[in-house]
Amino acid sequence: MRTNKRFADFVARLSENVNTLEVSKQAFLCLADTYRFGEVRLHYHVDRPKYQAERDEYNAVFHLDIGPVNEKMDYVMERNTGEGGVMRFTVIGLKGAREWSEEERVDIEMMLSIYMWHIARYRLISVIEKSVSTDYMTTLPNTNGYLEYGEMLRKTNTLSSFNSFYFNLKGFGLVNLKYGKTVADEILKKYALKVKKYLVDDEIVARLGGDNFVALIHKERTREFLSFIEQVVVHVDVDDHKQRVEIPAIAGICEIGDSVDDLGDIISQSSIALNTAKNVTKKPYMFVTDDMNKKAIQDKEIRMHFKEALQNGEFKVYYQPKVETDEYRIVGAEALVRWVRDGEVISPGKFIPLIEADGSVCELDLYMLAQVCNDIRIWLSEGVEPVRTSVNMSRKHLSNPNFPDQIIDMIDEFGIDHKYIEIELTETASDEEQGLLNTFMIKMREQGIKTAIDDFGTGVSSFAILRSFPVDVLKVDKSFIDSEFVSDNDAIVISNIVKMANELNLEVITEGVERWKQVIFLRQIGCKLIQGYLFDRPMPYSDFTKRLKMKKYDKKNIKDY
Ligand code: C2E
Ligand code: MG
Ligand code: MG
Repeated sequence: MRTNKRFADFVARLSENVNTLEVSKQAFLCLADTYRFGEVRLHYHVDRPKYQAERDEYNAVFHLDIGPVNEKMDYVMERNTGEGGVMRFTVIGLKGAREWSEEERVDIEMMLSIYMWHIARYRLISVIEKSVSTDYMTTLPNTNGYLEYGEMLRKTNTLSSFNSFYFNLKGFGLVNLKYGKTVADEILKKYALKVKKYLVDDEIVARLGGDNFVALIHKERTREFLSFIEQVVVHVDVDDHKQRVEIPAIAGICEIGDSVDDLGDIISQSSIALNTAKNVTKKPYMFVTDDMNKKAIQDKEIRMHFKEALQNGEFKVYYQPKVETDEYRIVGAEALVRWVRDGEVISPGKFIPLIEADGSVCELDLYMLAQVCNDIRIWLSEGVEPVRTSVNMSRKHLSNPNFPDQIIDMIDEFGIDHKYIEIELTETASDEEQGLLNTFMIKMREQGIKTAIDDFGTGVSSFAILRSFPVDVLKVDKSFIDSEFVSDNDAIVISNIVKMANELNLEVITEGVERWKQVIFLRQIGCKLIQGYLFDRPMPYSDFTKRLKMKKYDKKNIKDY
């Protein structure tokens, strides 16, 4: 090659900056004299880029401004982009210039190849830059893009003219199941596009991942936007047929005030409202309230302090007696956890669901079992006859193959008879869990440890369990007798449960009994075992020790709760 120095300049120019038209032009100018170029054109087209959501296409013309050009004197080079697209470069000579020699053509090809690499490098960098703030699938901004934009609004003091939305597509899991992932993705893309089109001015919608979206919408358009996302319709092709798909969303909204320190806060407040709408109020949308915020903070505290509280012995066992209604003898007890924190007694409903989510409830359950075993050992050593005591275990344990051994080892460690322990688990709907539950119950039965199905009648599986599970006890859920009068329908269901349990020789106990009237009804239908406030609320060790010594209740002293 005769023009080493010029080529070196050409490469140096291209490397100077990522890509601007000016840089490209300057680079070509390094060689224009030698090769008599007047203009360079670039056409780039990728129909379905791998790393970008939309078709990628651009045309650029570099006028080198040396003189008029000769359209007939051109050199065209076409190359595949590697993603099914093409790049075409056209070099056009100067008017009146001498045609390129063979050797010169080789040089030009070399120059264009170098330029092609430069373009590929530029494209890669721009894709990476874009992907940092763009959601690849829908082309909406992603979390990063959203935060960046929100931060810009915050800095320019315009954020408070918006309300913040966090929304989630209702039943999108089913859409996935019904149409498969590819079509579901297509639906999501079209959905995103529709929402984007609905925006005005400087509003923004972003996808955080999955079917979760966030948006900043002008305050005065809040209601309008809510009714829009309540039902968005998209059409997709499924096996050559157009399908109409309705996509309702559930939303949480946070009204943005004048002073915002952190946009992340606003997003999390909207998500708190969404959570409440979805899981608590079951409404299509909710505005965040102070109470919701307070609860979210409390929940976070609970999660944060759980481990330390477990180590500090803040969890206490409360016992609630189980009573037979012939002579009102205490025939059993249920161990119920209480979190005693700074003198305040926190009930399990406030923390079990939170620690269940991440599985840490399992540690607590085994801790409770250990405490119960320990208490039983003390009663035995003091000559107080204990009663069979049930311990609640989360279904989360079932997937742990060591779970049965953990229970057996624990009881044996305290050297107490297996007959004193009963394990309560709630019923389950999934086939897989039913299999695990079955295996678990067989192991317990082999070891003489009784098992109970808790809250029976509230789930889906109910009657199948009665027939095929090696279970010993059914605990009928208190919802059946909750109200002042047991409704006719409830009466039919509960009588049949009790009847079947008796015929299958299962123990059946009803919980939540608060009135004599309920006792009479339960006796009539054949349920003689009862647990409820009528006799006693769950109580600490020392109070329950007194009950054990008392052995039975005096009917005269028992008044409706
Ligand atoms: P559960 O196992 O169904 O326990 C019965 C619940 O009903 C207890 O609530 C008990 O205090 C309450 N109860 C008993 N009699 C009456 C009554 O006459 N009226 C009314 N209104 N309520 C009555 P608690 O102690 O708040 O426990 C709630 C739930 O928390 C339990 O329901 C159980 O699912 C869970 N839980 C409690 N302790 C543990 C534990 O150690 N481990 C696990 N995994 N869950 C636990
Ligand atoms: Mg229970
Ligand atoms: Mg229960």
